Amino acid sequence: QDKEWSFMVRVRAPGGRLTAAQWGALDALADRFADGTLRITSRQGVQFHGILRDNLKPSIAAVDAALLTTLAACGDVVRNVVTTPAPRRDAIHARLEAEAFRLSSALLPRTRAHHEIFLDEEPVGPAEAEPLYGPTYLPRKFKIGLAHPSDNTPDVLANDLGFVMQTDETGAITGWIVTIGGGMGMTHNKPATYPRIADAVALIGPDEVLEVAEAVVRLSRDHGDRSDRKHARLKYVLAERGVEWARERLSADLGRPLQPAPPLPRFEIPDHLGWHEQGDGRWWYGLHVPAGRVADHGEIRLRTALREAAAVLGVNPIATSHQDVLLTDIRPEDRAALEALLRFHNVPLPEAFTPVARDMLACVALPTCGQSLAEGERVRQPILEQVETELSRVGLLGERISLRLTGCPNGCARPYQGDIGVVGKSPGMYVVFVGGDFAGTRLNFPIADKVPLNRVGATLAPLLDAWAAGRDPTEGFGDFCARLGADACRAALVPAIAA
Ligand code: SF4
Repeated sequence: QDKEWSFMVRVRAPGGRLTAAQWGALDALADRFADGTLRITSRQGVQFHGILRDNLKPSIAAVDAALLTTLAACGDVVRNVVTTPAPRRDAIHARLEAEAFRLSSALLPRTRAHHEIFLDEEPVGPAEAEPLYGPTYLPRKFKIGLAHPSDNTPDVLANDLGFVMQTDETGAITGWIVTIGGGMGMTHNKPATYPRIADAVALIGPDEVLEVAEAVVRLSRDHGDRSDRKHARLKYVLAERGVEWARERLSADLGRPLQPAPPLPRFEIPDHLGWHEQGDGRWWYGLHVPAGRVADHGEIRLRTALREAAAVLGVNPIATSHQDVLLTDIRPEDRAALEALLRFHNVPLPEAFTPVARDMLACVALPTCGQSLAEGERVRQPILEQVETELSRVGLLGERISLRLTGCPNGCARPYQGDIGVVGKSPGMYVVFVGGDFAGTRLNFPIADKVPLNRVGATLAPLLDAWAAGRDPTEGFGDFCARLGADACRAALVPAIAA
C-alpha cells in the first residue's frame, strides 16, 4: 500500500500584503485541504501543512483563484520579497511596498510548467526561455529584502540581496545602499558552512532597484558554486571574493561604474503591535501570533477572529517577518467593533505578552519539517517561560530581547541574528547562541552545545545576572554579551553547565 504523502504549500505574498478577500480564501483552504491552521512565515508568506497528495493540486488551484501564487515560493529562484510591514501611508512606505511588488513579479520565472502541472493549463508553443534564470536556474535559493533604516523588521542584512533606502531631511528618496551576501543557513560541525550578515556593496540611485537586482541575480547564477549545494549561496561568493570584486562584476554587467556604499546607517525595529494610525485617516492593529500559527485552540479562537475581521470589517491583513499579523485599513468607527470581536474570541491582545514573547520567532520544525533535528514551534512556550523566569528574577522582564528558536541549523527563524538564538542539534538538545543585536546587524556566537531543552534558561542565567549587574544603562542583552566577548561569556557559564 502506498504511503499517505503529505505536503506543505507555501503562498508567496510580497511584503506580506494580503486583501481581506484573499485572507478569506486562504482561511477556507486551511479547512478544506490542510490541517485547519494557517502559518505566518518568517518571510511574510503563509504556509499550509498536512496537505495530502490528492489535495495538492486543488489547494494550489485555490491559491491561484485567490489571485495569489505558490510559484517561486520555494526552489532555486528569487523567493518571496520581504519589506517593512507597517502600512504607513507616506512616500517612504509606499515606495518600499511598490518596489517589493515590482521585484516580486519581475523576477518570477517565466516557465508555464507550474500552470500546466498544477492548474491543468494547456501547453502553449515551444518551451519558454528564461532570460534571467537561464536553463539551469540559480545554484540555490535567493532572498531579497528592502527596508528603511527606521524599520528593519525584515532583517534586511539576512538576505542574499538587500536594498536600504536613503532619504534626505525632507523625507525624499535619494538612493539605496545595496547589501549583498547575507544568509542564515549552516550545518552543525561543518565550519565551511556559516551564517553571514550582508556587506554594503554599492550606492545606487532611487530608480535603479530592479536593474541592479537583476544584475545581482546574474552574479549568483554565474558564480554560485553548483558543485555543492551547501556552498552555493551568494554569501560564500562574497566571503571568498570580496566586496570590491562584487562591485566590479556588477559594474561590468551594468556597463557603468557603481559607487561604493557609505557605511550602513543605524537600524531600528519599531513595535508594530496594537493600535497605530496609518496616516490616511485609517488605523492598523497589530496582533501577536505566537510562532505565526493562526489556529483556534479551545476558547482562544484566533483563526475565527481573523476570518471575521476580514469578512465583516474588511480589514486587509499584512504578514510580518516577525510572524505576526497587522490588521490594516480599519476605519475609526470600526475600532471598537474589532476590539469587541477579539475579546469575544478570547484572542490575547499584545499587552498580554511580555516584550521577549512579542519579539520571539520560532520555526515549524517537528512534525512537519523534514529537516528538523529537534522541536521548534512545539517547545516555544517552555523555552520562552524559562527565559521569562530568568528575566523576571533579574528584574529585566520589561526589556526588549530577540529570542529565536529553530529546530535545525538551517536558520529559518534567523536565530543567528538574535540577542539569543536556540538551535536544535538532536532530539531534546539545543545549541545556545548570544551576542546578536536587536536591530539585526550582528551575528551572535555559540556559548553552549547540547543544552537539554529544560536547561536553556539555567544556561543563560549567569549571563543574565551579569547583564543586570554590569550593563550600561540602556545596553541590550546581545550588545552586552558582544562587549564581553565569546570567551568571557562561555567562561561565565561554566558553573551553570556543570550544575
Ligand atoms: Fe527551517 Fe530547520 Fe526549522 Fe525546518 S527545522 S523550519 S529547515 S530551521
